[in-house]
This record gives sequence, C-alpha cells and structure tokens, in this order.
Amino acid sequence: MSRALHDLSFAALEGELVADGLRPAHARALWRAIHRDGTGDLAGRPDFLPPLRRWVGERMGVEGGFCAELPAVHSETASSDGLTRKFLLRLDDGQTVETVLMGYPGRYTACVSTQAGCAMGCVFCATGQMGFVRHLRAGEIVAQVLHCRGVLRAGGADGLRNLVLMGMGEPLHNYDAVMAALEIITDRRGINLGPGRVTISTVGVVPGILRLAEEQRPYGLAVSLHGATEEERSALVPASRRWPLAELIAACRAYGLRTGRSIFFEWTLIAGQNDSAATAGRLAALLEGIDAHINLIPLNPTGNYSGQAASAEAVRAFQRVLQDAGFPATVRQRRGIDVAAGCGQLRAEREPARE
Ligand code: SF4
Repeated sequence: MSRALHDLSFAALEGELVADGLRPAHARALWRAIHRDGTGDLAGRPDFLPPLRRWVGERMGVEGGFCAELPAVHSETASSDGLTRKFLLRLDDGQTVETVLMGYPGRYTACVSTQAGCAMGCVFCATGQMGFVRHLRAGEIVAQVLHCRGVLRAGGADGLRNLVLMGMGEPLHNYDAVMAALEIITDRRGINLGPGRVTISTVGVVPGILRLAEEQRPYGLAVSLHGATEEERSALVPASRRWPLAELIAACRAYGLRTGRSIFFEWTLIAGQNDSAATAGRLAALLEGIDAHINLIPLNPTGNYSGQAASAEAVRAFQRVLQDAGFPATVRQRRGIDVAAGCGQLRAEREPARE
C-alpha cells in the first residue's frame, strides 16, 4: 500500500520529507510539481535537486511509500454545444465518481464529487437513488480539480476560476476530508483557487453549517431547499426528517450573522409539486431577513423518478414572486442536459450493474 501525496497538506508533506532528511525547499518543489504543474510523473524533473530526485526514486510507487497518479478516465461525455464536459473517474478501489467541467465565456467551473454515492436519498437525484458507498479522501477531491485543470491546459486554456462541491455526495457529511481538500486547493503555492470562488453545496446538514460558521470557513454556501414547508420538503429530501426545516433555517440565520455572508438557496422546480406561485410566496416568507440568493433549477429528469421539469411559464412566475419580495432569484440553465449533467446520472447510465 502506498499513500497518495494528494492527501497531504503542505505541512504534512514537509513533515514527511524532513523526517526523511530533506529540507523545506524540497517540499516546496515537490508541492509545486504536484499541485501547480499538476503532474503525477515526478521522476527526472530538472527542477528537483539531487536529494529530492533520490527521494522520489526510493519512496514513490513502492510498498509503504507514496503515489501521485491522477484517477483514470472511465468515460467522458460532452454537451452538444461543447461547453459542458462530464467525466466519470475511476478511483484506486474501482469506485467511479463524476466530475464536470462547465465552460462560460473566459472562465471555467469545476463541479466535483465528495462521496461515492450519497446517504441523503433525495428522491429526484440519481446519486441519491444509488445509496451511499463511501467517503472520498481529501486527495480524491483534490485530484478531480487537477484533472479538470489538466484537461483545460491540454486544450490550451487555463481558465479554471470556480469550484462547486455539487457533484456526487453531501460535502458536509464528509466534513473533515472536504475541508482538508479545500485547504490544499486554495493553497497559493499550488492550485491557488481563491476561497471566495469555492461554493459548498449542502442538502441541509445543520451541524456542518454551524461548524462552517464557527470555524469561519471562507467559502460560499449553497443550501438545497426544494420545499418551503416541512411536509413539502421531506417528501423530496429525506434528510429533512433528521434536520427539520425550522432547524435548518435557524442554522442559516446563525451562519449569516456569524459570517456576514449571503447564502445561495437552490430550488429544483418540479411540475405540480413545488412550482406554484403560492409556494414561492411561502419560500419568500421563510427566508425573510436572510441575505439570500435563490437559484431556480428546472428538474433534470432521472430514470427512477417520475417528476417533470416545471414549465417555462411556471418558472417565470415563481421567479417573479421572489423578486417582488426583494430576493435576487436566478434561473439556472440546465447545463448540458444532454450529457446527463444532473449528479449521478452519468454513473447510473454507464455502470448500471453496480447499483
Ligand atoms: S442531491 Fe446531493 S445530497 Fe441529495 S442525494 Fe443527490 S448527491 Fe446526495
């Protein structure tokens, strides 16, 4: 068994090298190679001094040593407009996770997974329909970002600007690994993604939201609501039974007060279920006093859920009620619906036998 270098913080990496008799400068060179250059091939690098080259020769790829390979691509799809690319990446133990690269004029956003499968069971979500498999390690989250940046660089672009943790899994259910990954991803000596450009998306794991506030984590927060009453919400989001809506909204208020940050609220619009103007009114009342931005997302249909996307007319009416109540409300395009861009859809499609 070897340990993945991508799992290590800079301090941990430096500690390993110093314990092996190397100097902090060697750790900086190794860190740059892995995270800034994004390479897993560390042999024969001209920028490595002889002691580091020897260390690489003795410690990389050997039993009890280290490894730095990025996950292999199991499959890939691209939307017809070419702007959204979705990768199914194979991890060491054969599990596959989805990573999506979304292109906007002059910039790209990576959407990464934090777990294989998910325990939250949202009824309209292909990942939720799979169930929970395991948490990802910090390095497996970091590696997805490196993969996206590598894809961009290979195509002559280098505009990875934003990161959203909205792929497979519930990030706050894997809190420690996610925070460790984000510290690596935002480290200026390496990937150097600005913390303000990172958004953590949660289905409403109240203890995680409170911990983010308590620890003053510098990342954006998006909360998936989908229902404005307890009954409405728990029909779609079973996690609501564990963390009821009233508790969730109280945690969001506490988060806003403690951090001074606004919160994105995600609302999947499902025809006849949560897309009426009356529901929009209830949502506005629920969020009163919170510095909220609401993202409205017409449902991405999945195989095991019969719900349909709200009509364009219903979406507009819903948005208008929120805007009239003073909330910024944006209709998010269903980016790359033709590449199964709802989380878990590509894996469900490509590996149905695993479910
Ligand atoms: S929507 Fe997110 S939290 Fe809900 S089941 Fe899917 S991956 Fe899990």
